[in-house]
Amino acid sequence: MKYLSTRGHADRKRFCEILLEGLAPDGGLYLPESYPQVDDATLTKWRSLPYAELAFEVLSLYIDDIPADDLRAICRKTYTEAVFGTKEIVPLRPLENGLYLEALSNGPTLAFKDMAMQLLGNLFEYELARRGEQLNILGATSGDTGSAAEYAMRGKQGVRVFMTSPFGRMSPFQQAQMFSLQDANIHNLAVKGVFDDCQDIVKAVSNDLDFKRQYKIGTVNSINWARLVAQVVYYFAGYFQATKNNSEKVSFTVPSGNFGNVCAGHVARMMGLPIDQLVVATNENDVLDEFFRTGVYRVRGSADTHETSSPSMDISKASNFERFVFDLLGRDGAKTRALFGEQLGKTGQFDLSQDPAFAQARQRYGFSSGKSTHADRLATIKDTFERFGGMIDTHTADGLKVAREHLSAGVPMIVLETALPIKFAATIVEALGREPDRPAKFEGIENLPKRVTVLEADVQAVKAYIVAHCV
Ligand SMILES: *Cc1c(COP(=O)(O)O)cnc(C)c1O
Repeated sequence: MKYLSTRGHADRKRFCEILLEGLAPDGGLYLPESYPQVDDATLTKWRSLPYAELAFEVLSLYIDDIPADDLRAICRKTYTEAVFGTKEIVPLRPLENGLYLEALSNGPTLAFKDMAMQLLGNLFEYELARRGEQLNILGATSGDTGSAAEYAMRGKQGVRVFMTSPFGRMSPFQQAQMFSLQDANIHNLAVKGVFDDCQDIVKAVSNDLDFKRQYKIGTVNSINWARLVAQVVYYFAGYFQATKNNSEKVSFTVPSGNFGNVCAGHVARMMGLPIDQLVVATNENDVLDEFFRTGVYRVRGSADTHETSSPSMDISKASNFERFVFDLLGRDGAKTRALFGEQLGKTGQFDLSQDPAFAQARQRYGFSSGKSTHADRLATIKDTFERFGGMIDTHTADGLKVAREHLSAGVPMIVLETALPIKFAATIVEALGREPDRPAKFEGIENLPKRVTVLEADVQAVKAYIVAHCV
């Protein structure tokens, strides 16, 4: 299996080459040259597999430069009941007729990003050891991504994490999650500024190519193909739990921000998994809903990006969206580059409404979309608690609200549960008048000793910290 860039670069790379890379050299995103096809007999064989074995089967279609026994061992080590809380790893929970929640958020940081990041940690450790190299991951977080990365990389050989976050601005629970880690290879840098300052610092350091090379700086952002392909597995696992045989179809609704999660659903569908609709659910930041309704993709400025109660979906542009548009345009790299590499930069938008390809988003690729607001979230959280006795988080509530607008008789609808309510306690209290349930292992974490260094919002200060701590 070789990988190509969505912007038409001539290079073809193998999995382990792109594993530690970000963007392709032309600024595009990596995709496999073709999607491996899964036939009926294979689906039947996979139906009864435990999650770790299913992960191995899916991944081995995309990874041919890690020996099978090693890859299987990595999958078995990653997807365990001890780490993800249940034997099923991603259990389905039925709501009313044919509607299900698929639990993706029982990993170490209680958000779906653990599903991919835990695998990435083990793949990084494996590949770095094989090459005899080291990697210093530099990131910026306002909560979910940073903690998922830290819990995936803690204690791993060859990897250090330097995670910047805005000083005093994360919730007490999020701060406790990250800052209580005592592993020597994890460095929490609380920057005196806002999230954008952190992101600017990370960009400035990454743009200093000499520094980047000398100190082996890398990232773990959501455009990494390995993260995406790890997410493909739970679409298969959800399908098998909701159906009895392969003639049945299911639909998925996915709370979306950067389009990484639902893009994995698109890949699963392209492989032949019988998916009817892929419903993209957004919050007030409705860049994606607007596209799927109108054909216009219009990135937002920061003044136009709302701070909402489902903050992990507060995006101004969807960084993985280019992958889908590349497929939609018949894998035309020149056209994709014209849209994402040129037009977006100049005008901040492009319009496919008159392009015959746009109608295919719905007809051929199964996409539809919807939007949910703060009031919808509160109502959905309350309704779910009253009728089913379970608490759901704000992002999942966005998904559930939109899913109910896209039901079709006889087709199970699976809503991906992307976080647990404890992470967003203030909104749960607003909706239900009571505190969310807290998993036992997080009892009292706010009182644990904290390991964090406070720095000025200054590129030099962060560089100096890295230099002093990466030997
Ligand atoms: C990251 C995140 C999302 C958005 O996922 P994308 O892959 O960016 O679309 C949704 N919900 C939660 C809880 C998240 O952490």
